[in-house]
Amino acid sequence: MPFVFDFDHSHRKPPMEMKDLLGGKGANLAEMTSVLELPVPPGFTIATPACRAYMEDGWPVGLTEQIAKARVRLEKKIGKRIGDPSNPLLVSVRSGAQFSMPGMMDTVLNLGLNDQSVVALAEQTHDERFAYDSYRRFVAMYGRIVLGIPGEEFDALLDAAKELAGTTSDAGIPIELLRYLVDAYQQIVERHTGRPFPQDPGEQLRGAIEAVFASWNGPRAVAYRVRERIPHELGTAVNVQAMVFGNRDDNSGTGVGFTRDPATGEVGEYGDFLVNAQGEDVVAGIRNTEPLSELKVKFPQIHRQLLAIFARLEAHYRDMCDTEFTIDQGQLWMLQTRVGKRTGRAALRMAVDMVNEQAIQLTKEEALGRVTGEHLEQVLHPQFAAADHDVLVRGLGASPGAAVGRVYLTADDAQAAAERGERVVLVRNETSPEDVHGMLAAEGILTARGGLVSHAAVVARGWGKPAVVGAEALRISAASFSVGDTVVNEGDWISVDGTSGTVVVGQVEVSQSATPPEFAIILGWADEVRAGQLGVRANADNGPDATNARAHGAEGIGLCRTEHMFLADDRLPIVRQMIMASDPVGEEAALEALRVAQRFDFVEILEAMDGLPVTIRLLDPPLHEFLPDTEELAIKEATVGLTDEEQQLYEAAKAWHEYNPMLGTRGVRLGVIKPGLYAMQVRALMEAALDRVAAGGHPIVEIMIPLTVSRAELALARSWVEVAIAEAMMAAPGRTTSRRKGSRGAKVGGGSLEVLIGTMIETPRAALRAAEIATEADFFSFGTNDLTQMTFGFSRDDVEGRMMSVYLEEGLLERNPFEVVDPDGVGELVRLGVERGRSTKPGLKIGICGEHGGDPESIATFAKAGLDYVSCSPFRVPIARLATAQAVLAGFTGSRPGGAPGGAKRAAKAAPKRVAKAAPKRVAKAAPKRVAKAAPKRAAKAAPKRVAKAAPKRVAKAAPKRVAKAAPKRAAKAKR
Ligand code: PEP
Ligand code: MG
Repeated sequence: MPFVFDFDHSHRKPPMEMKDLLGGKGANLAEMTSVLELPVPPGFTIATPACRAYMEDGWPVGLTEQIAKARVRLEKKIGKRIGDPSNPLLVSVRSGAQFSMPGMMDTVLNLGLNDQSVVALAEQTHDERFAYDSYRRFVAMYGRIVLGIPGEEFDALLDAAKELAGTTSDAGIPIELLRYLVDAYQQIVERHTGRPFPQDPGEQLRGAIEAVFASWNGPRAVAYRVRERIPHELGTAVNVQAMVFGNRDDNSGTGVGFTRDPATGEVGEYGDFLVNAQGEDVVAGIRNTEPLSELKVKFPQIHRQLLAIFARLEAHYRDMCDTEFTIDQGQLWMLQTRVGKRTGRAALRMAVDMVNEQAIQLTKEEALGRVTGEHLEQVLHPQFAAADHDVLVRGLGASPGAAVGRVYLTADDAQAAAERGERVVLVRNETSPEDVHGMLAAEGILTARGGLVSHAAVVARGWGKPAVVGAEALRISAASFSVGDTVVNEGDWISVDGTSGTVVVGQVEVSQSATPPEFAIILGWADEVRAGQLGVRANADNGPDATNARAHGAEGIGLCRTEHMFLADDRLPIVRQMIMASDPVGEEAALEALRVAQRFDFVEILEAMDGLPVTIRLLDPPLHEFLPDTEELAIKEATVGLTDEEQQLYEAAKAWHEYNPMLGTRGVRLGVIKPGLYAMQVRALMEAALDRVAAGGHPIVEIMIPLTVSRAELALARSWVEVAIAEAMMAAPGRTTSRRKGSRGAKVGGGSLEVLIGTMIETPRAALRAAEIATEADFFSFGTNDLTQMTFGFSRDDVEGRMMSVYLEEGLLERNPFEVVDPDGVGELVRLGVERGRSTKPGLKIGICGEHGGDPESIATFAKAGLDYVSCSPFRVPIARLATAQAVLAGFTGSRPGGAPGGAKRAAKAAPKRVAKAAPKRVAKAAPKRVAKAAPKRAAKAAPKRVAKAAPKRVAKAAPKRVAKAAPKRAAKAKR
């Protein structure tokens, strides 16, 4: 099997399209060499299958021979040999995976040097200093990366050498000390490995390649892949390339350049460079860089040449490119290019600009593909509310948005503080990949050194975390930092503005950013693409959220969690009264009080969403969530004692306690044992809807029953709802026409009201039995939070904190299934549910309202399953609008039953028929029978028995932990 390809290898298709084989770096080096014919130092790529084979079975058979041949070809092209004692060729060995993982894997530079070739290099370059400096760098790098020796051992010697020489810079170390360092470094190697430093270039090369393969599974790389959702099995390619030297003299240098501004999207080159330095020096942010405009002054010809290359790259890739270049004694070399990472603001601007640019001419569809959900999230990031602050220090605004947090000075401390629930700003001299976990945990990042393309800047920008870098006035010590006379201690609050590059002591008020004009343009294009195919609704529980959702482009409400209405301070006591009521009169009184409160909430929501469908879900969570923490009350009882009211609450909390509340008395089950509750909610809703009609509004109401598992259960619940609807309709004061035969609608004061009754599909059984459940449902909505919980058997309140990270790191799960819907298991149930539901009712409207409704990858899964709409939290609506359009463009909606796209259209047509058909039979026939049979018996009998039996055992054991944990998290999640 061919594992090794020269950069000028003639591939079947453009190498830039072969990133899966050559890795991103290798593919683009080959594209620049063989297609664009740009000045690229020659080399070869060991393709990703070699790494995969290595991970499976160790060093692949035949790889050694292929590398040896490629090495000979490379040496011929250059006219030098690796390790040649008279004319040595030095090479770099770098990783390069299919998806960019900046700084996460290993690199070895200056490979090929040994005790003999270093002498030749010194003679050949007439620069002994340069030769020995390169050699000591190589020994240290090889020792650290390939031989696993702690880097600090080499660093300590280097620091000692600098101190001895009275210099602070590497360049100030005299030749004698460099020779000494090479010797001392080699002794460190021998001490650790029991062998002399390898002198054979073949052995060096094999060691470096193996180290790069192995670094694919290093902790940094694994953590990065988990965060970036990159599959663990892809493996990395390895690029072996002739070295060029930016650190040879003052006629040399190295830099990083973008073809346009990656932070703002502004047209024109952008970047940093350093004279007399190696590429790593720019990226590491060890020295402060100069802007590319300075290149024009110092190297005018190179600057012109570079701009011409930038123009060719943009026209060729039809996108903004990011490059690394080196000037070796006045000659320009391109070391890397790739389509550049960008901020959200820049992505939007570039996408819109490039549709209009002659050289690029993107289509609108292509432009939509250039923007991601993360980009949109970034422009929705908060900003400092006011401009006038006492600025402590200024740096470079490297990643936009404002962050407020407590200062932590190491990545470990930042992570630990975030785990304690603190908001954190990580402050470092500069960051390196070792700091990634702290950066991940932080709200914002501040560094004293580094440029706009330093590690801190690139990583923060990629993640949309506000960052200020290169704030040179910062002096960082062990437990504080200072600027002039101001000392900021660890744990103190600071605020950083990654847009303007300013840092302020204390907590600055932040406000939402104004979205750039391109935001609306892109979302407008997205809406055109998805129109009539995939709808986007919002999960909203009150008027202001519904208004906000509509402003973000929601086309209705897909989930109103009515239990959230009960959590307000003024409602909780009434709910508790209802739970604790010892007789029907008390229960009735409490329900009546709740009805009044809910009615106003519903009016607000229906008004905000006038003319758009609003799905109201009847009460879902276990009642114990409304009761106080039994553990706390138990302690209080044992210490200071309880008031009468507290005692009553305590008894109720114990009585309602369950071992597995998420699998207990919730959803429709709650309705079954407290049927008056659902009737009360429907009455409140219908009164609100009729109020809206009377006020000239056009409410469209969908009543949703949670957690049903069978047809019988839904039929029963439906019967209560229908009776309550019928009663509310009959009682409507402005009602001027009687209910039409065959409709659950009514005419009130000249307006009309339509109501659908549907169910959530949240359990595997419901998905499997969707065909029969559909006979009782006007619509389905998949509750993928519970469906995920119940399909995996993963408690949604427990597993993410405790085991998810381990599962992701171990590769036992590719994604957190609560974040991205599991396409194989849960996705299969969604597909089955859709197929079976529509086998009974071909026009059945089906949506999804779990948290996955705002996740682009999950949206693709839902589109493929043939759903009509997704519903997500209001702030994610723009992201869902984009992602649904992208799913339509990818052709995913074409796989709907019958092959015809346009589920939303179909549903719109089918709905009135359902209303017309389904209602009368049920209201007239089924409902009274069911109500008469089922409800009273249950209300009178079942509930007390359960309470009496179950309570004591549960309280004693499991309750406190679960109760305390479950409720807040669910509420917090729902707010996402
Ligand atoms: C769900 O389970 O996906 C859902 C939307 O309901 P909840 O999160 O309120 O249980
Ligand atoms: Mg649910």
